Amino acid sequence: MKRREFLKSAAVAGVAAGAAATFTGCTREQIEGKKSVNINRQRKVTLKIATSWPAHFPIMGTGVERFAQKVQQMSGGSLQIKIYPKNILVPALAVFDATSSGQIDGFHSGPYYWKGKNAAFALFSGAPLRMTASELSCWMNYGGGYELWRELYARYNLHPFIGGNTGVQMGGWFRKPIDSPEDLKGLKMRIPGLGGEVMAKLGVNPILLPAGEIYTALERGTIDATEWVGPALDIRMGFYKVAKYYYTGWHEPGSILELTFNKLRFDRLGDEHKAVIRYAAEAMTSEMYHEFMHENALALKKLKELGIEIRDFPPQVIAAAKEAMEEVAREQSRKSEDFKRVFDSMERYYALIKPWTQISETKFCSIR
Ligand code: CA
Repeated sequence: MKRREFLKSAAVAGVAAGAAATFTGCTREQIEGKKSVNINRQRKVTLKIATSWPAHFPIMGTGVERFAQKVQQMSGGSLQIKIYPKNILVPALAVFDATSSGQIDGFHSGPYYWKGKNAAFALFSGAPLRMTASELSCWMNYGGGYELWRELYARYNLHPFIGGNTGVQMGGWFRKPIDSPEDLKGLKMRIPGLGGEVMAKLGVNPILLPAGEIYTALERGTIDATEWVGPALDIRMGFYKVAKYYYTGWHEPGSILELTFNKLRFDRLGDEHKAVIRYAAEAMTSEMYHEFMHENALALKKLKELGIEIRDFPPQVIAAAKEAMEEVAREQSRKSEDFKRVFDSMERYYALIKPWTQISETKFCSIR
């Protein structure tokens, strides 16, 4: 019996002593399940993965650390993932190039960081006012998203997986209330990505600031507003102490994080190791999404107890943002063929999935 067939039948039916006895190297204890059978025993592999987060950064950092543990467990120790937090092996935003060149084996980060390399890459994080986390996963898995992502990343010798999702991000913290589109004009706001480009069309001056500088800038009034992630991570940043109005989200409906490997290195892995990475990444994605949900719920409760006002943007602001988003998409599509291909694919899938979401989750949530 071939080893792979053995593993398959062992997993399905439990270890049958007769069949297992022919598996070279199995002791009686292993056959009886007292010791785990080590797949790929002959080929121990170690992969170095750098992240864009500090060590043990809540949910994103801890999530990828648990991914490494899962890989270790699922591979019986034959595949080791070593996680290097930002700036240990390479700077936070050098992980893409370092993996592409083979200096490291992979990275955990966000596709929107690489839009300077290719405008289309921002879309693999999701798009403002469009698909949610689960809709994006459907597009990736069943609507051609992964094919496009892998085709475009292969040009950089990279092979991506979804490595988590933040779920709906909040619209941000504002020092003054936004009651009409006029109130946005001239505001300085820390907001990156396509959301920032949409805001720019509405008269906002979008600003990029390193994480460590946002609080002070907001406190001193150097900026008037900032978005970050959601209650769980925002409360840790302390924004509620210096900005009173917390707006619901529109610009990041479910941001995909990525776990991306050097393609040559990934292609050379054995089939078992490829499968271990694939399913450990799926488990990480699901865990991280649900941990965000849970932690956000706890933090929201605390923020309400602190008297923070949660507000919706007025409908005219959302209408103006929708119009601006169309304009941004048209402009980017004219400039970049890749952006157009990816955006068109997403739009087709969004048109398919939205009616179902509306009569299922949206409908149900409106009546419960
Ligand atoms: Ca954000």
